[in-house]
Amino acid sequence: MSTRRNWASYKRGVTSETWDAIVVGSGLGGLAVAAHLARRAQKRVLVLEQHYVAGGFTHVFHRPGFEWDVGVHYVGGMQPGSFLQRQFAAIGDGSLEWTDMGDVYDEVHVGNEAFRFPKGRRALREALVDRFPREESAIDGYFRAIAEVQKSSRFYFAEKAVPAWVATVGGGLLRRSLLRWSDRTTHDVLSELGTSPLLSAVLTTQYGDYGMPPKLSSFAIHAMVASHYFHGGYYPVGGSGRIAESVAPVIEAAGGAVLVSAEVKEIVIEEGRACGVRMQDGKVLRAPMIISDAGVDLTFRKLVPKSESDRHGYTEHLKHVAPSASHISLYVGLNKTAAELTLPKHNLWIYPHEDHDRAIADAEKNPDAPLPVVYVSFPSAKDPSFAERHPGRATLELVTVAPWGWFSTWDGSRWKKRGADYDALKTKLTERLLSTLDKHVPQARAHVTHAELSTPLSTKHFAAWEHGEIYGIDHGPARFREKWLKPQTKIPGLYLTGQDVVTCGVAGALLGGSICASAILKKNLLT
Ligand SMILES: Cc1cc2nc3c(=O)[nH]c(=O)nc-3n(C[C@H](O)[C@H](O)[C@H](O)COP(=O)(O)OP(=O)(O)OC[C@H]3O[C@@H](n4cnc5c(N)ncnc54)[C@H](O)[C@@H]3O)c2cc1C
Repeated sequence: MSTRRNWASYKRGVTSETWDAIVVGSGLGGLAVAAHLARRAQKRVLVLEQHYVAGGFTHVFHRPGFEWDVGVHYVGGMQPGSFLQRQFAAIGDGSLEWTDMGDVYDEVHVGNEAFRFPKGRRALREALVDRFPREESAIDGYFRAIAEVQKSSRFYFAEKAVPAWVATVGGGLLRRSLLRWSDRTTHDVLSELGTSPLLSAVLTTQYGDYGMPPKLSSFAIHAMVASHYFHGGYYPVGGSGRIAESVAPVIEAAGGAVLVSAEVKEIVIEEGRACGVRMQDGKVLRAPMIISDAGVDLTFRKLVPKSESDRHGYTEHLKHVAPSASHISLYVGLNKTAAELTLPKHNLWIYPHEDHDRAIADAEKNPDAPLPVVYVSFPSAKDPSFAERHPGRATLELVTVAPWGWFSTWDGSRWKKRGADYDALKTKLTERLLSTLDKHVPQARAHVTHAELSTPLSTKHFAAWEHGEIYGIDHGPARFREKWLKPQTKIPGLYLTGQDVVTCGVAGALLGGSICASAILKKNLLT
């Protein structure tokens, strides 16, 4: 099972200058809409990716003997027969397999307390009640609140795919029940339920999956992410690079192409209509439909000419959304197998204390404050094909939030040539992450042969997120009121896809693609 497909480069030539649709960005949001258009409507779609590998945050990178995922550690809702599994089947060539992470998906450490999230809503409820017996009724209230969000989010997201006149007439009704939850923060809802500080801290440990602590995040995103994992965690066999590899053939079968090293400089708008893209080399490629997977900030601040963004109100709209947090990741290679090192399949989440908001605020003020969260993922233990592909080795990944401000001094410097101070900061952060690893996975350190840190500047360089955003725009209550976050834009011929249209996450990006294709083809693809 290889994840080393050689992606065709734009620099080697593009076979045609006109296409049925052009997609800017090959993240899952971009690939999904392209595959739907190809499979359902035989459209010739050109996907343009500025990086030299396709897949956006689903891409993997390699060093001799090792391979790491960049932005996929586990995906929920992939149990056989599920909605999400059908969604993946609808865009792929059938070669992508998922493996179940087992009975536990997350193990969390809050100060000296630990808790394991078991697979299954009932099992999770029981584990919580066992651990917090006096809080049974708050726990039940929590599950009821999550069920309400699950129910109402279907209508909320459906509204994004319907024609503009339907949204004008019935949009308010479709959105209303979710807004009752999304207007409140996670902290607001848990406070109303009366959960104790420790229970609240445990329930919100997965805030790392959406990037905002309880007092800032909307309860809607918390509930969506928490319920996403109720059926456990799943991992793509062969690593996350398999996702793009399984979708590209569908695009190509209809005459389309996925080209890398293909940076779009501008979306061309003529007579008020999006009709092409201007590449960095000045070449113009044309299509009656341009779809952006590059995030709303980049799309309306850089790719769409300013006069058009101003005229249609997008410059103003952008003031109402903010970039999500940025992060650092430590990619670790080991000279023993996951089995030899008894690495778990489940993730570890490590927090200094119960107050996630304070921990983040402290780190923003003082880089030497305790790391607000350390997330550890063990891809080589999750992936049954890893041992065969990389014999005698194992990998793990550590992630923590890291404010853009820690690195902004070096913005504009060149990759690998950012200077001694930057390298020293990276060394220091690497050591801090490894010492957390020592405490929780002590058997690993003696076998570490590779440790490489990415910063928000790496995210900007490779994934084109301006402030190294981990999840596009942030997920506070205000986001859910922004009606313009939908595939159809006010510029005829221009559409949006990906995580900013729905929510962050592999599932969010995929649904962003399906909703975008539904809006374009006027068919319900959310089945
Ligand atoms: C560290 C990390 C861990 C994560 N872990 C998980 C996880 O375990 N589970 C989960 O479900 N989600 C996870 N996520 C989130 C998930 O990966 C993303 O939400 C999702 O993949 C985003 O997909 P997208 O298509 O919206 O955007 P992206 O994948 O970011 O794709 C956008 C693409 O557009 C390209 N682009 C931008 N501008 C241009 C241009 N001008 N020209 C050409 N191309 C351009 C970029 O290079 C990029 O490839 C994680 C993310 C990160 C960063």
